[in-house]
Amino acid sequence: MRVILSFLIGAALISIASFGGSHLVKEAYAQSPTQALSDRDAYYPGTEDIASDEMRVTACGTGMPNARPKQAAACFLVELGNGDKFIFDIGTGSMERLTGLAIPFDYLDKVFIGHLHADHFGDLDALWVGGVISNRQRPLRVWGPNSTRPEYGTAYAVDHMEKMLTWDSASRLGNVNTQGLQIEVNEFDYRGVNQVIYEENGVTVRSFPAIHALDGPVSFTLEWNDLKFAYSSDTYPNKWWMEFAKGADIAIHECFLPPALLVTKQKWPVQDALNVGTQVHTSPSMFGKVMSLTEPRLAVAYHFFNDFDTAPFVERQIRTTYDGPLALAVDYMVFNVTKDDIRVRMASINEDVWPLPSVTDKLPADPSQRIGFTQFLIEGREVFQDVINKIYDDINEEFGTNISTPN
Ligand SMILES: [Zn+2]
Ligand SMILES: [Zn+2]
Repeated sequence: MRVILSFLIGAALISIASFGGSHLVKEAYAQSPTQALSDRDAYYPGTEDIASDEMRVTACGTGMPNARPKQAAACFLVELGNGDKFIFDIGTGSMERLTGLAIPFDYLDKVFIGHLHADHFGDLDALWVGGVISNRQRPLRVWGPNSTRPEYGTAYAVDHMEKMLTWDSASRLGNVNTQGLQIEVNEFDYRGVNQVIYEENGVTVRSFPAIHALDGPVSFTLEWNDLKFAYSSDTYPNKWWMEFAKGADIAIHECFLPPALLVTKQKWPVQDALNVGTQVHTSPSMFGKVMSLTEPRLAVAYHFFNDFDTAPFVERQIRTTYDGPLALAVDYMVFNVTKDDIRVRMASINEDVWPLPSVTDKLPADPSQRIGFTQFLIEGREVFQDVINKIYDDINEEFGTNISTPN
Protein backbone atom coordinates (compact mmCIF):
# COMPACT_ATOMS: atom_id res chain seq x y z
CA MET A 1 0.00 0.00 0.00
CA ARG A 2 1.29 3.42 -0.85
CA VAL A 3 0.96 6.02 1.85
CA ILE A 4 1.37 9.68 1.15
CA LEU A 5 1.31 12.29 3.84
CA SER A 6 1.99 15.98 3.59
CA PHE A 7 3.19 17.68 6.71
CA LEU A 8 5.69 20.13 8.04
CA ILE A 9 8.61 19.15 10.23
CA GLY A 10 10.21 22.35 11.43
CA ALA A 11 10.85 24.31 8.30
CA ALA A 12 11.33 21.22 6.17
CA LEU A 13 8.50 20.57 3.83
CA ILE A 14 8.28 16.86 3.26
CA SER A 15 5.82 15.63 0.74
CA ILE A 16 6.34 11.97 1.53
CA ALA A 17 6.58 10.27 4.87
CA SER A 18 6.66 6.77 3.50
CA PHE A 19 6.69 5.17 0.07
CA GLY A 20 5.42 1.73 -0.66
CA GLY A 21 5.44 0.82 3.02
CA SER A 22 2.48 -0.12 5.09
CA HIS A 23 3.81 0.21 8.64
CA LEU A 24 1.99 3.48 9.27
CA VAL A 25 -1.28 1.82 8.47
CA LYS A 26 -0.80 -1.53 10.18
CA GLU A 27 0.41 -0.28 13.53
CA ALA A 28 -2.18 0.43 16.15
CA TYR A 29 -2.35 4.03 17.21
CA ALA A 30 -3.72 3.25 20.67
CA GLN A 31 -0.91 3.65 23.21
CA SER A 32 -0.31 2.30 26.68
CA PRO A 33 -0.11 4.79 29.59
CA THR A 34 3.04 3.04 30.89
CA GLN A 35 4.92 1.70 27.87
CA ALA A 36 7.10 3.45 25.34
CA LEU A 37 5.42 4.58 22.15
CA SER A 38 5.44 1.96 19.43
CA ASP A 39 6.27 4.56 16.79
CA ARG A 40 8.05 7.72 17.92
CA ASP A 41 8.23 9.00 14.35
CA ALA A 42 11.71 10.41 14.96
CA TYR A 43 15.19 8.94 14.72
CA TYR A 44 17.16 8.91 17.95
CA PRO A 45 20.80 8.17 17.00
CA GLY A 46 22.23 5.03 18.48
CA THR A 47 18.85 3.46 19.23
CA GLU A 48 17.98 1.66 15.97
CA ASP A 49 19.59 -1.33 14.28
CA ILE A 50 20.16 -1.10 10.55
CA ALA A 51 18.38 -4.07 8.97
CA SER A 52 20.55 -6.40 6.91
CA ASP A 53 18.86 -5.21 3.70
CA GLU A 54 18.61 -1.54 4.64
CA MET A 55 20.37 1.64 3.56
CA ARG A 56 20.14 4.55 5.99
CA VAL A 57 21.04 7.97 4.61
CA THR A 58 21.41 10.98 6.92
CA ALA A 59 21.71 14.57 5.77
CA CYS A 60 24.65 16.07 7.69
CA GLY A 61 24.88 19.25 5.64
CA THR A 62 22.28 20.63 3.24
CA GLY A 63 22.85 24.37 3.07
CA MET A 64 25.03 26.90 1.36
CA PRO A 65 28.75 27.76 1.54
CA ASN A 66 27.70 30.12 4.33
CA ALA A 67 27.38 27.47 7.05
CA ARG A 68 24.83 28.50 9.67
CA PRO A 69 23.52 26.95 12.90
CA LYS A 70 20.57 25.31 11.15
CA GLN A 71 22.39 24.03 8.07
CA ALA A 72 25.99 22.99 7.64
CA ALA A 73 27.45 22.82 4.13
CA ALA A 74 27.10 19.69 1.99
CA CYS A 75 27.48 16.28 3.61
CA PHE A 76 25.50 13.03 3.40
CA LEU A 77 26.21 9.88 5.39
CA VAL A 78 25.28 6.49 3.91
CA GLU A 79 25.09 3.53 6.32
CA LEU A 80 24.51 0.02 5.04
CA GLY A 81 23.15 -3.16 6.57
CA ASN A 82 26.51 -4.85 5.94
CA GLY A 83 28.13 -2.47 8.46
CA ASP A 84 29.83 -0.14 5.99
CA LYS A 85 29.51 3.64 6.25
CA PHE A 86 30.38 6.26 3.63
CA ILE A 87 30.58 10.04 3.82
CA PHE A 88 29.75 11.94 0.63
CA ASP A 89 31.20 15.46 0.82
CA ILE A 90 32.28 16.91 4.14
CA GLY A 91 31.37 20.59 3.92
CA THR A 92 32.02 23.26 6.52
CA GLY A 93 30.20 22.53 9.77
CA SER A 94 29.28 18.94 8.94
CA MET A 95 31.71 17.36 11.44
CA GLU A 96 29.42 18.60 14.21
CA ARG A 97 26.48 16.80 12.57
CA LEU A 98 28.45 13.57 12.21
CA THR A 99 29.34 13.77 15.91
CA GLY A 100 25.65 14.24 16.70
CA LEU A 101 24.91 10.82 15.17
CA ALA A 102 26.84 9.07 17.97
CA ILE A 103 28.84 6.76 15.71
CA PRO A 104 32.36 5.63 16.65
CA PHE A 105 34.75 7.59 14.43
CA ASP A 106 36.55 4.35 13.51
CA TYR A 107 33.52 3.66 11.31
CA LEU A 108 33.59 7.13 9.71
CA ASP A 109 36.79 6.44 7.78
CA LYS A 110 35.68 6.70 4.14
CA VAL A 111 35.08 10.11 2.51
CA PHE A 112 34.12 10.74 -1.11
CA ILE A 113 34.60 14.36 -2.20
CA GLY A 114 32.63 15.51 -5.25
CA HIS A 115 34.65 18.67 -5.77
CA LEU A 116 37.04 20.91 -3.91
CA HIS A 117 34.80 23.83 -2.99
CA ALA A 118 35.13 24.48 0.74
CA ASP A 119 31.41 23.91 1.20
CA HIS A 120 32.01 20.31 0.06
CA PHE A 121 35.26 19.46 1.88
CA GLY A 122 35.82 22.29 4.37
CA ASP A 123 35.51 20.03 7.42
CA LEU A 124 37.95 17.38 6.19
CA ASP A 125 40.52 18.80 8.59
CA ALA A 126 38.04 18.56 11.47
CA LEU A 127 37.27 14.93 10.61
CA TRP A 128 40.96 14.10 10.21
CA VAL A 129 42.42 15.68 13.34
CA GLY A 130 39.17 15.79 15.29
CA GLY A 131 38.65 12.13 14.55
CA VAL A 132 41.94 11.34 16.25
CA ILE A 133 40.96 13.33 19.31
CA SER A 134 37.57 11.59 19.17
CA ASN A 135 39.15 8.11 19.32
CA ARG A 136 39.52 7.12 15.66
CA GLN A 137 42.47 4.73 15.45
CA ARG A 138 42.06 3.77 11.80
CA PRO A 139 43.53 5.66 8.83
CA LEU A 140 41.22 8.12 7.10
CA ARG A 141 40.52 7.14 3.49
CA VAL A 142 39.66 9.87 0.99
CA TRP A 143 38.50 9.63 -2.63
CA GLY A 144 38.30 12.66 -4.89
CA PRO A 145 38.84 13.80 -8.47
CA ASN A 146 41.84 15.21 -10.29
CA SER A 147 41.50 18.20 -12.62
CA THR A 148 43.27 19.84 -15.54
CA ARG A 149 46.26 20.79 -13.35
CA PRO A 150 47.82 18.86 -10.46
CA GLU A 151 47.21 21.76 -8.06
CA TYR A 152 43.47 21.60 -8.76
CA GLY A 153 43.33 17.95 -7.68
CA THR A 154 42.34 16.16 -4.48
CA ALA A 155 45.84 14.82 -3.73
CA TYR A 156 47.24 18.37 -3.79
CA ALA A 157 44.44 19.63 -1.55
CA VAL A 158 44.90 16.87 1.03
CA ASP A 159 48.70 17.18 0.94
CA HIS A 160 48.40 20.89 1.69
CA MET A 161 45.78 20.30 4.36
CA GLU A 162 48.36 18.08 6.08
CA LYS A 163 50.97 20.82 5.63
CA MET A 164 48.57 23.43 7.02
CA LEU A 165 48.19 21.25 10.10
CA THR A 166 51.91 20.54 10.56
CA TRP A 167 52.03 22.26 13.96
CA ASP A 168 48.76 20.62 15.00
CA SER A 169 49.83 17.07 14.18
CA ALA A 170 53.34 17.61 15.64
CA SER A 171 51.74 18.82 18.84
CA ARG A 172 49.81 15.57 19.19
CA LEU A 173 52.90 13.35 19.06
CA GLY A 174 53.55 11.72 22.39
CA ASN A 175 50.39 13.22 23.89
CA VAL A 176 47.70 11.11 22.20
CA ASN A 177 47.86 8.04 20.01
CA THR A 178 48.23 9.30 16.46
CA GLN A 179 47.52 6.16 14.42
CA GLY A 180 44.43 7.90 13.05
CA LEU A 181 46.55 10.65 11.49
CA GLN A 182 47.40 8.27 8.67
CA ILE A 183 45.54 9.40 5.58
CA GLU A 184 45.07 7.52 2.33
CA VAL A 185 44.23 9.56 -0.77
CA ASN A 186 42.70 7.99 -3.85
CA GLU A 187 42.65 10.54 -6.65
CA PHE A 188 40.81 9.47 -9.79
CA ASP A 189 40.19 10.89 -13.25
CA TYR A 190 37.30 13.35 -13.19
CA ARG A 191 36.54 12.44 -16.81
CA GLY A 192 35.85 8.81 -15.95
CA VAL A 193 32.36 7.92 -17.11
CA ASN A 194 30.62 5.59 -14.68
CA GLN A 195 34.04 4.42 -13.54
CA VAL A 196 34.34 2.18 -10.51
CA ILE A 197 36.36 4.00 -7.85
CA TYR A 198 35.52 1.72 -4.91
CA GLU A 199 34.53 -1.92 -4.81
CA GLU A 200 34.65 -3.74 -1.48
CA ASN A 201 32.35 -5.93 0.55
CA GLY A 202 29.58 -5.94 -2.05
CA VAL A 203 29.55 -2.13 -2.37
CA THR A 204 30.36 -0.36 -5.62
CA VAL A 205 30.91 3.40 -5.84
CA ARG A 206 31.12 4.94 -9.30
CA SER A 207 31.90 8.47 -10.46
CA PHE A 208 30.94 10.42 -13.55
CA PRO A 209 31.66 14.02 -14.57
CA ALA A 210 29.74 16.95 -13.13
CA ILE A 211 29.69 20.39 -14.73
CA HIS A 212 30.38 23.07 -12.16
CA ALA A 213 32.63 26.14 -11.98
CA LEU A 214 35.88 24.51 -13.27
CA ASP A 215 36.88 21.11 -14.64
CA GLY A 216 37.19 18.53 -11.87
CA PRO A 217 33.78 18.06 -10.15
CA VAL A 218 32.10 14.66 -10.22
CA SER A 219 28.88 13.03 -9.09
CA PHE A 220 28.63 9.58 -7.48
CA THR A 221 26.46 6.51 -7.31
CA LEU A 222 26.71 3.87 -4.60
CA GLU A 223 25.16 0.47 -5.26
CA TRP A 224 24.69 -2.31 -2.74
CA ASN A 225 22.13 -5.06 -2.27
CA ASP A 226 20.17 -3.94 -5.33
CA LEU A 227 19.78 -0.43 -3.89
CA LYS A 228 21.15 2.63 -5.63
CA PHE A 229 22.10 5.93 -4.01
CA ALA A 230 22.94 8.82 -6.36
CA TYR A 231 24.57 12.05 -5.22
CA SER A 232 25.26 14.98 -7.53
CA SER A 233 27.52 17.09 -5.29
CA ASP A 234 27.30 20.32 -7.36
CA THR A 235 26.46 20.30 -11.04
CA TYR A 236 24.66 21.90 -13.92
CA PRO A 237 22.19 19.38 -15.40
CA ASN A 238 24.14 16.96 -17.55
CA LYS A 239 23.86 13.86 -19.70
CA TRP A 240 25.91 11.65 -17.39
CA TRP A 241 23.58 12.17 -14.43
CA MET A 242 20.57 11.43 -16.65
CA GLU A 243 22.13 8.14 -17.73
CA PHE A 244 23.78 6.83 -14.59
CA ALA A 245 21.53 8.17 -11.82
CA LYS A 246 18.44 7.04 -13.71
CA GLY A 247 16.01 5.09 -11.57
CA ALA A 248 18.02 5.49 -8.35
CA ASP A 249 16.24 4.51 -5.17
CA ILE A 250 17.31 7.81 -3.62
CA ALA A 251 18.63 10.61 -5.82
CA ILE A 252 20.15 13.60 -4.02
CA HIS A 253 20.80 16.51 -6.35
CA GLU A 254 21.70 20.10 -5.78
CA CYS A 255 18.82 22.57 -5.96
CA PHE A 256 20.40 25.97 -5.56
CA LEU A 257 18.77 29.06 -4.10
CA PRO A 258 16.52 30.55 -6.80
CA PRO A 259 18.00 33.71 -8.35
CA ALA A 260 15.17 35.81 -6.90
CA LEU A 261 16.18 34.81 -3.35
CA LEU A 262 19.86 35.46 -4.07
CA VAL A 263 18.78 39.00 -4.89
CA THR A 264 16.15 39.64 -2.20
CA LYS A 265 17.62 37.70 0.75
CA GLN A 266 21.32 37.60 0.00
CA LYS A 267 21.55 41.02 -1.71
CA TRP A 268 23.37 39.83 -4.82
CA PRO A 269 23.48 41.80 -8.09
CA VAL A 270 20.81 40.40 -10.45
CA GLN A 271 23.37 39.48 -13.12
CA ASP A 272 25.42 37.43 -10.65
CA ALA A 273 22.29 35.78 -9.22
CA LEU A 274 21.19 34.66 -12.66
CA ASN A 275 24.66 33.46 -13.64
CA VAL A 276 25.42 31.52 -10.45
CA GLY A 277 21.83 30.33 -9.96
CA THR A 278 21.28 28.95 -13.46
CA GLN A 279 24.70 28.51 -15.11
CA VAL A 280 27.03 27.39 -12.30
CA HIS A 281 24.30 25.57 -10.36
CA THR A 282 20.92 23.92 -10.86
CA SER A 283 17.95 26.17 -10.08
CA PRO A 284 14.80 24.57 -8.54
CA SER A 285 12.81 24.42 -11.78
CA MET A 286 15.90 22.91 -13.47
CA PHE A 287 16.14 20.42 -10.58
CA GLY A 288 12.54 19.44 -11.24
CA LYS A 289 13.30 18.80 -14.89
CA VAL A 290 16.33 16.72 -13.91
CA MET A 291 14.19 14.58 -11.60
CA SER A 292 11.42 14.15 -14.17
CA LEU A 293 14.06 12.53 -16.36
CA THR A 294 15.83 10.66 -13.52
CA GLU A 295 12.60 9.13 -12.15
CA PRO A 296 14.01 8.11 -8.75
CA ARG A 297 11.95 6.44 -6.04
CA LEU A 298 12.69 9.56 -3.99
CA ALA A 299 14.16 12.87 -5.16
CA VAL A 300 16.03 14.87 -2.52
CA ALA A 301 16.77 18.56 -3.06
CA TYR A 302 19.56 20.26 -1.13
CA HIS A 303 21.86 23.29 -1.35
CA PHE A 304 19.49 26.08 -0.37
CA PHE A 305 18.51 27.77 2.88
CA ASN A 306 15.42 25.75 3.73
CA ASP A 307 13.22 28.05 5.81
CA PHE A 308 9.52 28.59 6.47
CA ASP A 309 9.41 31.24 3.78
CA THR A 310 11.84 29.81 1.21
CA ALA A 311 10.68 26.17 1.20
CA PRO A 312 7.22 26.85 -0.30
CA PHE A 313 8.80 29.11 -2.94
CA VAL A 314 11.43 26.51 -3.86
CA GLU A 315 8.85 23.73 -3.96
CA ARG A 316 6.52 25.72 -6.19
CA GLN A 317 9.37 26.16 -8.68
CA ILE A 318 10.25 22.45 -8.55
CA ARG A 319 6.61 21.52 -9.06
CA THR A 320 6.46 23.42 -12.35
CA THR A 321 8.63 20.64 -13.83
CA TYR A 322 8.33 17.60 -11.50
CA ASP A 323 5.41 15.89 -9.79
CA GLY A 324 7.12 12.83 -8.30
CA PRO A 325 8.25 11.89 -4.77
CA LEU A 326 10.21 14.73 -3.20
CA ALA A 327 11.95 15.73 0.02
CA LEU A 328 13.46 19.16 0.63
CA ALA A 329 16.44 18.30 2.80
CA VAL A 330 17.48 19.97 6.02
CA ASP A 331 20.25 18.80 8.33
CA TYR A 332 19.44 15.63 10.26
CA MET A 333 16.77 14.44 7.86
CA VAL A 334 17.02 10.63 7.82
CA PHE A 335 16.02 8.31 4.98
CA ASN A 336 15.55 4.59 5.67
CA VAL A 337 15.68 2.92 2.28
CA THR A 338 14.70 -0.69 1.54
CA LYS A 339 13.24 -2.30 -1.56
CA ASP A 340 9.76 -1.98 -0.07
CA ASP A 341 9.83 1.39 1.60
CA ILE A 342 11.53 4.74 1.93
CA ARG A 343 10.83 6.31 5.27
CA VAL A 344 11.69 9.96 5.88
CA ARG A 345 12.05 11.31 9.40
CA MET A 346 14.01 13.86 11.36
CA ALA A 347 16.73 12.84 13.80
CA SER A 348 16.49 14.09 17.35
CA ILE A 349 19.98 14.96 18.52
CA ASN A 350 21.49 14.87 21.99
CA GLU A 351 23.43 18.12 22.08
CA ASP A 352 25.41 16.83 25.07
CA VAL A 353 26.80 13.91 23.02
CA TRP A 354 30.41 12.82 23.72
CA PRO A 355 32.74 11.03 21.32
CA LEU A 356 32.22 7.29 21.46
CA PRO A 357 35.04 4.90 22.41
CA SER A 358 37.20 3.52 19.63
CA VAL A 359 36.15 0.15 18.28
CA THR A 360 39.40 -1.45 19.41
CA ASP A 361 41.04 -0.71 22.77
CA LYS A 362 42.25 2.88 22.89
CA LEU A 363 46.02 2.76 22.57
CA PRO A 364 48.15 5.05 24.74
CA ALA A 365 50.40 7.76 23.39
CA ASP A 366 54.07 6.97 22.80
CA PRO A 367 55.91 9.48 25.02
CA SER A 368 59.15 8.92 23.09
CA GLN A 369 57.51 10.76 20.13
CA ARG A 370 56.95 13.92 22.16
CA ILE A 371 58.76 16.91 20.70
CA GLY A 372 58.69 18.95 23.89
CA PHE A 373 59.53 22.56 24.65
CA THR A 374 62.64 24.64 24.38
CA GLN A 375 64.46 25.64 27.56
CA PHE A 376 63.00 29.14 27.04
CA LEU A 377 59.48 27.91 27.84
CA ILE A 378 60.50 25.28 30.37
CA GLU A 379 62.04 28.04 32.47
CA GLY A 380 58.76 29.99 32.25
CA ARG A 381 56.65 27.32 33.92
CA GLU A 382 55.13 27.85 37.34
CA VAL A 383 55.12 24.28 38.68
CA PHE A 384 52.46 23.71 41.36
CA GLN A 385 54.09 20.45 42.41
CA ASP A 386 51.89 19.85 45.47
CA VAL A 387 48.71 20.44 43.51
CA ILE A 388 49.83 18.17 40.65
CA ASN A 389 51.01 15.45 43.07
CA LYS A 390 47.53 15.41 44.58
CA ILE A 391 45.91 15.05 41.14
CA TYR A 392 48.17 12.09 40.34
CA ASP A 393 47.57 10.52 43.76
CA ASP A 394 43.80 10.88 43.48
CA ILE A 395 43.69 9.48 39.96
CA ASN A 396 45.99 6.58 40.83
CA GLU A 397 43.71 5.73 43.72
CA GLU A 398 40.51 6.05 41.65
CA PHE A 399 41.75 3.93 38.74
CA GLY A 400 44.15 1.57 40.56
CA THR A 401 47.20 2.84 38.66
CA ASN A 402 50.68 3.74 39.82
CA ILE A 403 51.78 6.57 37.56
CA SER A 404 54.46 8.81 38.99
CA THR A 405 54.41 12.58 38.65
CA PRO A 406 56.74 13.83 35.89
CA ASN A 407 59.75 15.84 37.06
ZN1 LIG B 1 30.59 23.92 -5.59
ZN1 LIG C 1 28.21 23.68 -3.20
